[in-house]
Amino acid sequence: MNLVFLGPPGAGKGTIATIAKEFYDIPHISTGDLFRYNIKNDTVLGKEVKAILASGDLVPDSVTIKMVEDRFTKDDCKNGFILDGFPRTIFQAEALKEMKELDAVVNFILDREEIIKRLSGRRMCKSTGKIYHIIYNPPKIEGIDDETGEALIQREDDKKEAILNRLDVYATQTEPLISYYREKGIIVDIDASKSPEEVFASVKKALAK
Ligand code: AMP
Repeated sequence: MNLVFLGPPGAGKGTIATIAKEFYDIPHISTGDLFRYNIKNDTVLGKEVKAILASGDLVPDSVTIKMVEDRFTKDDCKNGFILDGFPRTIFQAEALKEMKELDAVVNFILDREEIIKRLSGRRMCKSTGKIYHIIYNPPKIEGIDDETGEALIQREDDKKEAILNRLDVYATQTEPLISYYREKGIIVDIDASKSPEEVFASVKKALAK
């Protein structure tokens, strides 16, 4: 199954993708995670995009598309994939159309107030990428990853100013994709305000149709 998870930052795309990838046995391809991996390992790409990610702006289309193209050459994409955070512009969507045919685009819907609450409370384990929330999904010991014992970090772009910029970027550059895919008849709308288990249950039900 070839899936795209679309929706504003903080809507839970990554969390649901982690559940869905096990269930459907397909890889979770998060362009944000791929960029963060490169930044962490100080690669050429990482150096190029570090400041862009910290500000919440978008990485240029050409760079992002090339990275996704490379990722698709890996064997694990044969039976499908979940793209999380890609495409984010109409230009990227057009490029994706040339690479793969999609079965569905899952549109995660969440209001602005809840998005800000979720993003500002989000914490992450830098080495494993595991995500927590200080209120909704706290670690066993405050500020410490349950598995590695490492200190949790707040993503640079989960700080207030970057959050507001990301929401603006989403509204202007990414939201038009909803109508783009709705016209193609492949959008599935999901209420993302519920618990991860409930949200995944609605995704599963919608995709079974
Ligand atoms: P995410 O983890 O999906 O919130 O992505 C984090 C950041 O990575 C974004 O704010 C962008 O700076 C960059 N990024 C991720 N995916 C894309 C994309 N498809 N196009 C451009 N920039 C992206």
